[in-house]
Amino acid sequence: MDNILEIKNLNVGFDIEDNFYFALNDINLTFEKGKIHAIAGESGCGKSVLINTILRLLPKNSRIKSGEILFKDQDLLKLKEKEIRKIRGNSISLIPQDPFMSLNPLYTIENQLLEVPSIKDRENKINIIKGALEEVKIKNIDTVLKSYPHELSGGMKQRVIIAMALISKSDLILADEPTTALDVTVSNSILNLLLELKNKGKTIILITHDLSIVSNYCDTTTIMYLGDIVEINSSDKLFKNPLHPYTKALIGALPTSRGKKLENIKGQISPITEKIKGCKFHPRCNFAMEKCCCIKPKLINNVACHLYN
Ligand code: SF4
Repeated sequence: MDNILEIKNLNVGFDIEDNFYFALNDINLTFEKGKIHAIAGESGCGKSVLINTILRLLPKNSRIKSGEILFKDQDLLKLKEKEIRKIRGNSISLIPQDPFMSLNPLYTIENQLLEVPSIKDRENKINIIKGALEEVKIKNIDTVLKSYPHELSGGMKQRVIIAMALISKSDLILADEPTTALDVTVSNSILNLLLELKNKGKTIILITHDLSIVSNYCDTTTIMYLGDIVEINSSDKLFKNPLHPYTKALIGALPTSRGKKLENIKGQISPITEKIKGCKFHPRCNFAMEKCCCIKPKLINNVACHLYN
């Protein structure tokens, strides 16, 4: 198996007032090249902290306690700031939840695409840009190039961001809830674009709280809960035979056939400032046993739950 990214024993947290709280606990993940890998869970489960740790874009009160993030045989956590800056937007691109955040409101789309560093040959720049915009199915290319970000719809801005990733020839694309702000039809077209990128050999890590898109688009799925990996598997297996009660609850909460009552996950995800002993899901779990309140389950055979180990 050819992996593009390996995360080893990663522990990350935040200094909040006088205490330190872990947001990622002992994360071990490998990402195979040319696949779409989903990282899923509710808000607050640690997905975005993971993406921001890969890109080294964590806030000042964060601390990486231990771990390695190996990308093409180099540990991203050991790179100097100017070295990681060269990787961001070049070998690794980010598609954010809100594309407006990644576009400068003061410059036209053309000027922003001209700034993508991988385009060296100035004469060919415009042709490369137009080719990328065609690939992301933008029809009125000349109008879009002359537009400012606020003149484009959310879906169109997201296409421009994906075009940037194409121009930069990134091998790895981190998509952080890229369709959350879009309506369903636009959202599907963006996800289809990600599928096309995968078919061209790109690797995509898709952060999402929406398991309905995971089953259709992603090869592997990692389920996180309060900074822990609770289940990991190929998406096929995970959806056919979910093991962890949290995974089952997330799948049970998906709308399926008309008239079927949606199941709610009881309670709410706790803040990281609340220290929970044992399995962190136990306050919400319908299967909790005595030992769940005091012994933390290990991830064994793809699942971290005392029901199986
Ligand atoms: Fe539920 Fe216990 Fe499994 Fe946690 S370890 S998910 S509380 S059964």
